[in-house]
Amino acid sequence: MKAIYWFRQDLRLHDNPALLQACEMSEQLLPVVFAGQHSTEMTPWGFERKGPHRLAFENQALNGLSKSLEQRSSHLYQITDVAPIQALIDLAKRHGLEMVFCESLPGPEEQQAVRELQAAGLTVIQIEQAGLLEVADLPFIIDKTPLMFTEFRKAIESNEVVPCTPLPAPDHLPKLIELENAQEPALQPHQTTMAADAVSADSRSAFPYLSQDWQGDEPTGLAHLDRYFASDLPQHYKGTRNGMMGTDYSTKFSPWLAVGSLSPRSIYAALVDHENRQGANDDTYWIWFELLWRDHFQVLMRRFGNRLFHRNGLAKQPRPINPNLTDKKAHARLQHWIAGQTGQPFIDAGMRELAATGYLSNRMRQNVASYLIHDLEVDWRAGAAWFEHALIDYAVSSNQGNWAYIAGVGSDPRGGRRFNPAKQARDYDPDASYQQLWATA
Ligand code: FAD
Repeated sequence: MKAIYWFRQDLRLHDNPALLQACEMSEQLLPVVFAGQHSTEMTPWGFERKGPHRLAFENQALNGLSKSLEQRSSHLYQITDVAPIQALIDLAKRHGLEMVFCESLPGPEEQQAVRELQAAGLTVIQIEQAGLLEVADLPFIIDKTPLMFTEFRKAIESNEVVPCTPLPAPDHLPKLIELENAQEPALQPHQTTMAADAVSADSRSAFPYLSQDWQGDEPTGLAHLDRYFASDLPQHYKGTRNGMMGTDYSTKFSPWLAVGSLSPRSIYAALVDHENRQGANDDTYWIWFELLWRDHFQVLMRRFGNRLFHRNGLAKQPRPINPNLTDKKAHARLQHWIAGQTGQPFIDAGMRELAATGYLSNRMRQNVASYLIHDLEVDWRAGAAWFEHALIDYAVSSNQGNWAYIAGVGSDPRGGRRFNPAKQARDYDPDASYQQLWATA
């Protein structure tokens, strides 16, 4: 059988059950990816969905994947068409490839893409592999997923649900389906390219992805995983995770998780191994705890889908709108926030860091989000959209879920979170060193 493997947010060979199944079931395989998807698509707020940092980091992951496939006598093809799903359907039809293997993703847009392939007559084999846990292993059905994280976590822990053991990378891939490039304008062999001109290294970065040890590809992600769990950083994780400067205060797994060059189950296996070697404590437990938040948001996305993209989200009451804030004023406030020019030094420092590096600590994400929503009174979805543009670890469920949570229209039982930036600065940046570091763009 001849089939397509469609790489989505799983740019890796290790622990990739969907790819392993494609390898087992097909004699010839065409590995494809939608490269640069959303990079030219504009949001309602006037910027592209995918910005230069995300593109550059994703490109590093693609370079790594392409190399790994070549080492196994295969090749990565990229679809660059602005309507990639239709291009994939046309390609499959022209070459008689009726089967598409891919990972199953929780986002409504991602699920719609699969439905379009199916509606065109293609058989899609999709496997869940984006989370720690599989939906079928959860101690509740999707429609009964607890809204509150604590309930979700307790149900999992009391039922002793644990992630599956990660699978090894395939030794070899099925024979590559050879295509004449000239006949396929929307499909190109992946070419290894360097980072886009639009990005440059910033020595202040907490995730310096333009330097060798932090690139987005799978071998670098796995090397980081080994390095992190060989160190004693996990032994202090809970105490340091609210930090804001340097590479060591948190695990920094999220960018590799976002492009899928690291699998969450590999992280869990490495965590357990670390605990066996160096001891388990509250700090190491907290890594599992935080990773479970990611799963919780993914399952909530499966449960609520498009509702998480509405202004009122999951709230029963509509979110109040300030009648004195015109669209023009709201737009100006958003622009100042994006540029790090609100006049609030702690918030501005965070927004400058995000723009310069494509990464921001969890502490600062909470602060800048709260400020946009509760102080500037701008639509929370504009902030979520800017994070989608800017973050190298952008992940739809975690992003939408966290923004909705802070806005009080998500899964927070306390009706939203408002942070006082002056108090937060005193507590987390008492000597103002973070604000000094990011005093300039
Ligand atoms: P660590 O503190 O080391 O945590 C370990 C892992 O646990 C992370 O890699 C991540 O996978 C998971 N995790 C930790 N905190 C959260 C959380 N609050 N929600 C979900 N998962 C979590 N994370 C993303 O991966 N992509 C996003 O687009 C994203 N957008 C966010 C938007 C807002 C407004 C906020 C407040 C948080 C957002 N987060 C997002 C969650 C969190 O800030 C990042 O996952 C974390 O800062 C990444 O750094 P780390 O890997 O060092 O995290």
